[in-house]
Amino acid sequence: MEKDMILISSCLLGVRCRYDAKIVEPNPEALRLFEQGCALVLCPEMLGGLPCPRQPAEIQPDGRIVTEGGEDVTEAFRVGAGKVLAACRALGVKRA
Ligand code: SF4
Repeated sequence: MEKDMILISSCLLGVRCRYDAKIVEPNPEALRLFEQGCALVLCPEMLGGLPCPRQPAEIQPDGRIVTEGGEDVTEAFRVGAGKVLAACRALGVKRA
């Protein structure tokens, strides 16, 4: 039987992709899924072209995503999310 794949954030597996470039201890459950070959591991922000490190950004009431410094990074988030969605569709991944 084919394994169900699950999308997992790269930073949860200790990949250096967070805004602050900090490498965190891998999440045990994420690591277990990865070791079982059940994980699609991606970082949408970096797939959208954002660097590491980068300024933290938050979604605004109007739907834009803006960094602490006031830069509108909505398009980068949109591009990254689109790439992740395409990868999930191609691989039949339905859970994150
Ligand atoms: S976008 Fe990248 S850094 Fe942010 S939570 Fe997802 S994997 Fe981690």
